[in-house]
Amino acid sequence: MGLVACPKDWETLARDTVNKCNDLVQQVVTVPHSEQTISLLDDVSDTLCQVLDTAEFCRNVHTDPAWRQAATAACLSLGSYVQGLNTHRGMYAALSSALRAPGARAGPPETRAVGLSLARDFERYGVHLDAGGQARMARLTAEAQSLGYELGQNLVDPGALQGFDLPSSLADVPGTLPSGTGVLARRGSQVTAWLAQMRQPRASLALVCRLAEVRRSTARLMGHDSFAAYQLTDFSLAQAPSAASSFLEALGRRLAPAAAREAAQLVVMRDATEPRRHLAGGGPAPGAPLDPWDVAYFKNLARDRQREDAASAWALSCSPRQALRGLDRLMTRLMGVRVRDAALSPGEGWAPGLAKLRVSEADGALLGTVYLDFQPRPGKFPGAAHFVLRCGRGHGTDAVQTPVLALVASLPADQAMHPSQLELLLHEWGHALHTLLSRTRHQHLSGTRGPLDMMEVPSHVFELYARDVQGLALLLDRPAAELEAAVRAQRAQRRTFSALTTLHQVHLGLLDQAMHSSRPPDEARLAGATAEVLGRHSPLADLGPHLPVYPQLRFGHLVGYGATYYSYLAAQSLSARLWRRHMEGEPAGRAAGEALRRNLFEPGGALPAGEALRRLLGRGAGEAGEAAPATIPDPGDLMLELGIEE
Ligand SMILES: [Zn+2]
Repeated sequence: MGLVACPKDWETLARDTVNKCNDLVQQVVTVPHSEQTISLLDDVSDTLCQVLDTAEFCRNVHTDPAWRQAATAACLSLGSYVQGLNTHRGMYAALSSALRAPGARAGPPETRAVGLSLARDFERYGVHLDAGGQARMARLTAEAQSLGYELGQNLVDPGALQGFDLPSSLADVPGTLPSGTGVLARRGSQVTAWLAQMRQPRASLALVCRLAEVRRSTARLMGHDSFAAYQLTDFSLAQAPSAASSFLEALGRRLAPAAAREAAQLVVMRDATEPRRHLAGGGPAPGAPLDPWDVAYFKNLARDRQREDAASAWALSCSPRQALRGLDRLMTRLMGVRVRDAALSPGEGWAPGLAKLRVSEADGALLGTVYLDFQPRPGKFPGAAHFVLRCGRGHGTDAVQTPVLALVASLPADQAMHPSQLELLLHEWGHALHTLLSRTRHQHLSGTRGPLDMMEVPSHVFELYARDVQGLALLLDRPAAELEAAVRAQRAQRRTFSALTTLHQVHLGLLDQAMHSSRPPDEARLAGATAEVLGRHSPLADLGPHLPVYPQLRFGHLVGYGATYYSYLAAQSLSARLWRRHMEGEPAGRAAGEALRRNLFEPGGALPAGEALRRLLGRGAGEAGEAAPATIPDPGDLMLELGIEE
C-alpha cells in the first residue's frame, strides 16, 4: 500500500511520522509568528493525515489480517500522539499570535481561513480553556466517544435487543431486526415489528439522552447555547440551526399535500387488499388514515406492481467498466479532464480486483490518482465511500502535491449495474472530483474538508447525470432517443411515494435538530418531542395509544452527523438548482464545467461555502434575506427534482 511495503513497515512509518512531526512542532513554536506558522501547522496536519488516513483505510479494507492488525496498531499509536498535539498550548499560542499578527489580515485569504479553521480544531479540545475547563472538555469528549461507540454496538449486538416480543411467525428472523422489508412483508406482524423498531434497543434510550446532554455541555463550554449552534456557526452553509430547521420546516410544509395524496392511494390499496380485516376486528375501518406500520408494506406492494417500469429502467444499465469509459467522455467534454486506466505495480493494492485511474488535464498534467475497489468480497467495508489517502496542496507554490484517493463500493465487475448503482458511482465520483480538482495551497481545507452541507453538493450534482437523457447518452455512448423511454420510466419510479419518503427524511432531520437544541430532551421530554415532530405535516394516523416511540434509537447517523443530518436534503435542493441553472439542456457544456470547476471544486473549503454558491447561482439566490446571512436552499428546487411539482 503506497506508503508501506509490508505490514511490519507500519510500525516504522508511525515512528518516523512522530519524529518528523516533533521537528515541525519545534519549528511552529520557534519561528516568528506569521503566515509561516500557519503553513508549518498545515505541514504537521498533512504529515499526520497522510499516514493516519491511509492506516485507517488499510485497517478497514485490507484482505490480509496481518496488514489490518499492523495498520490498527499504527492508528492507535498515532491517535494518542494526535491527542497530545490537539491540546498543545505552545502550538495554539503560536497560531493565535500568528492570526493576530499585522500581516495576517493582509496575507492570502486562504491562509487566514486555514489558520481560523486550525484554531477552531484546537479549541474543540479545550486548549484555550483554563486547566479546569480543559479537563472537563477531555472528560466530555471521551464520554461522547464512548456513548457513540455503545450506541453503535447496540445496533449490531443481538444481546442489546433482548426484550423482543415477536410472534412465532417471526421466529426465524434473527435477533436484530433489519429496518428493511423482509420483516414488514409478513403481514399481520407489522405492528409488533414496527413498535420493536421504534422502541428497541431499549438500552439505547438512556444513552441517546446522555449523549445529547454531553454534547450540550461541550457546546456551552465552547460558548454556544446548543450543540447545533456549535456545529453550524461559521462552519456550514446554513450558518445557524434556525436556518437548518426553517429549511426542513418549509420542505415539510411543501411536501404535505403530496404526502397526503400518496397516503390516500395507499389507503385505497389497503382497503382493496384486505376488505375483511376490519370486520374480523383486526384492522382499521375502510377509509381510516394509514397506520405508520402500513406505509412500508403497501409501498413495497405498489412498487411490485410497477415491475414494468423497473424492468425498462434496466435499459439504462451498464457495467462499472463502461461507466468509467463514459466518465472519461463526460469529463473531457465538461472540463477537459481525462480519466484513464493506469496499471497497478506488482504488490500495489490491498485486495484482488482493484483498478487504478490516472486523472489528468487534457495536456497530460496529472491531477490525481484514484483507486477503485468495487469487487464484492465477504466482510468487505459496507456501503460506498470515498477515502482520501493524500490531499492535494501546494498550489501557487512550486511544490504541488497531487491527491490520491480510493472509491470503495460493491458493484458487479463486468456485468450490468442497476441504474441506482450507476447513481451511487456518480455520487462518489462527485466527491472524488472535489478532492481531485481542489487547488488550495494548504491541505487543511482542500477538497472535501469543508462543511458537510457544502461537501454533499458536488456529489448530488453528479448523481443527476444518471437521470438525464443527454447525460446518460454520453455516459453510455448511446443515442439519446434510445434512452428516453427508460429515463421516463425511471423518473416515474423515483417519483412514486417520494413525498412520503422525503417527509420521513425531514422528520429525521428535525429530530436531529431537536436532540441538539439548547434544551436537549431527557427521557420524559424525548417522547413528547418525538411524537410532535412525527406528527408534523404527516398524513398518517395519530400514534396515540402506541406512544412513546423513539426512531432515534435506530438512527445511526445521530452519532456521526450530530445536528447536520439536514445536509443531504439541503444538498439535493441546491444541486437541483445548480443543474437547472448550468447543466439543463446541455449537461456537458464546457461553460457549465468551467463554472463548476472554478467556483465549486477548486476552492475546496478555502472559500466560504455561501460565497461559492453565490458565485454559481447569483447573489441573493437562496438567501434568507438581508438580515440573515444564511444560505437557505429553496425547497421548491427539490420538489421539482423529485417530480412532485412540475
Ligand atoms: Zn456523499
